[in-house]
Amino acid sequence: MSDLINRSVGFLCSLLLLIPISGYSENHHQADKEFKVTQLTDRISMLQGRGGNIGVLSGEQGILMIDDDYKVMSSALQKALSPFGGEEKLTYIVNTHWHGDHTQGNLHFGHSTPIIAHDNVRARLLTAQEIKLFNMKSEPYPEYALPSITYEKSLTLHINAEEVEILHLANGHTDGDSVVFFKKANVVHLGDHFFNGFFPFIDVDHGGDVLQMAKNIDHVLMRIDEKTVIIPGHGPLGDKQDLLAFKQMLEGTAAEVKKMRVAGMSVEQMQAQGLTAQWDEWADGFLSPQVWIGIINSSLDK
Ligand SMILES: [Zn+2]
Repeated sequence: MSDLINRSVGFLCSLLLLIPISGYSENHHQADKEFKVTQLTDRISMLQGRGGNIGVLSGEQGILMIDDDYKVMSSALQKALSPFGGEEKLTYIVNTHWHGDHTQGNLHFGHSTPIIAHDNVRARLLTAQEIKLFNMKSEPYPEYALPSITYEKSLTLHINAEEVEILHLANGHTDGDSVVFFKKANVVHLGDHFFNGFFPFIDVDHGGDVLQMAKNIDHVLMRIDEKTVIIPGHGPLGDKQDLLAFKQMLEGTAAEVKKMRVAGMSVEQMQAQGLTAQWDEWADGFLSPQVWIGIINSSLDK
């Protein structure tokens, strides 16, 4: 659990690091600049650094990498890729969505590797973006760091004897989310449709929607089984039961906020009252119940 907390706090600190006015020293985080590698199958591994979890499929046809962390992690990521053949063996990068903790590595790895993403990810990265909740701003990405291969509904890659289905789930965490199924290996990378064990950030200002995210997860749950290994966007490796619990939390907490809205409470009153105790453990590590209530409320406003 402490690992989870450290990682989550690291995630939040990383977001804070991007605040332009912050005088936060990079040195404070030097020790964080390495990746923890977890081998899932003979060809698939999960890499955990400071941003979103990375999936790697390696083999004779090179490396397929799902997400690429913050730019400050690029040299550490470069090192972490050596056992898989090194950066020069990268064949494709997939961006699960536009957020910097999943795409800033494009600024390094995009020089030599084609990037695949949903149409809306390219559109977002072409212009300046802001996430108000974290006071985080990003500049437009240069051409080489943009997804050069985009798709609308789904796209399948056949690489390293694996069938990799990249599927768009509309309006969940953002408006451009992809989930990636490694069909033969029975592994799936869910991007930020899954924060394993804690309240998630949902980017309502950029097309995210709490209840639609729960519906999208239902779709994933129908497609996986008890043996499926799930790489979440954030948090530890998960399975079907973990994903189901996460979906039930989304629905259960949204129902509580809905009820408070029907009772005529303002968002401040809802935040003061809080959620019922059954959701306490989900507040452990990243967002407080108050911030989560605010996200649900703005999602229900849409
Ligand atoms: Zn995200």
